[in-house]
Amino acid sequence: MLIVPEREIANLMTRKAAFDAVEKVFAAMAAQDAYNFPVVREAIGHEDALYGFKGGFDRAGLTLGLKAGGYWPNNLEKRGLINHQSTVFLFDPDTGKPAAMVGGNLLTALRTAAASSVSIKHLARDNAKVIGMIGAGHQATFQLRAALEQRPFDKVIGWNYHPEMLSNIEKVATEAGVPFEAVDLPGMQEADVIISITSAFAPSLMADHVSPGTHIACMGTDTKGKQEVEAALLARATVFTDEVAQSISIGEAQHAIAEGLIAEADVHQLGAVINGSHPGRSSDDEITLFDGTGVGLQDLAVASAVVDLAVEKGIAIEVDF
Ligand code: NAD
Repeated sequence: MLIVPEREIANLMTRKAAFDAVEKVFAAMAAQDAYNFPVVREAIGHEDALYGFKGGFDRAGLTLGLKAGGYWPNNLEKRGLINHQSTVFLFDPDTGKPAAMVGGNLLTALRTAAASSVSIKHLARDNAKVIGMIGAGHQATFQLRAALEQRPFDKVIGWNYHPEMLSNIEKVATEAGVPFEAVDLPGMQEADVIISITSAFAPSLMADHVSPGTHIACMGTDTKGKQEVEAALLARATVFTDEVAQSISIGEAQHAIAEGLIAEADVHQLGAVINGSHPGRSSDDEITLFDGTGVGLQDLAVASAVVDLAVEKGIAIEVDF
């Protein structure tokens, strides 16, 4: 069994490798070569922690396993550790023997950013120039860094519920040489692409804050009750997702479905666009919306890629098991 510790991930994994792994597994999901197992997420009654598993099997990539972990809200204050903690376990699909244990914290941010980037590649207009960010926390910086590689954006605009945090994303824009401007929510009408990545339980982005032709990646809503955008926006948009079952139950589409504004059949897999079995964007005026809920297969795909890189560089730790 191989171990790739968290401390090695930053030196091994690239945004490109994460993008390629996620794009490939989304395609495999749509081709029904890969499937996610039902998610387990429990409040364990200790340290206010939320703990769970996301797993799956990719028959095409022969990746079997799970990500275990969750959220420990007291970690930072009490122990100087980050609050989100996760580890990926890979198994040999031929024998069931454990194959690898991989630090999952940085990988989670990279695979989540890769998902919205894949949606931008396949659904945003080719001539998109302005990218809008809603959210400026930990994930937002990864999201913006990856998205800026998908189109030659010439401006970043940003809004955040806590405006003092906007400097986090301004820094990323500046490092990429792209000017940044803080805007109010109606100012998002200038954006050709919008990424929302917040922990909100009420919508910020309303349907009339979005111009025709925009692509929106909603990346923050991954739990029942969370919501970042007005449900009416999904009714105005063509909706895509990583996994339909998650989108309608724990993703952004849960609200539009509950309000009867859209039906399950209106939610399409992004993988189908990658495979060519769905045409994707049909006009320059169409609003496309990607509901990125985060699936276990994404974690397995990037973990498997990082194990290959670690083996290549001779830094995977081998243990008898
Ligand atoms: P963070 O704590 O670093 O940042 C939270 C962000 O949400 C900040 O921008 C904050 O200002 C904003 N926010 C907080 N309360 C708000 C409110 N009431 N209204 C609007 N905005 C509010 O968190 P993070 O690590 O950046 O994670 C952001 C979200 O992304 C979380 O909800 C997390 O669960 C989700 N997430 C999703 C995936 C996925 O695959 N889809 C993966 C990882 C994280």
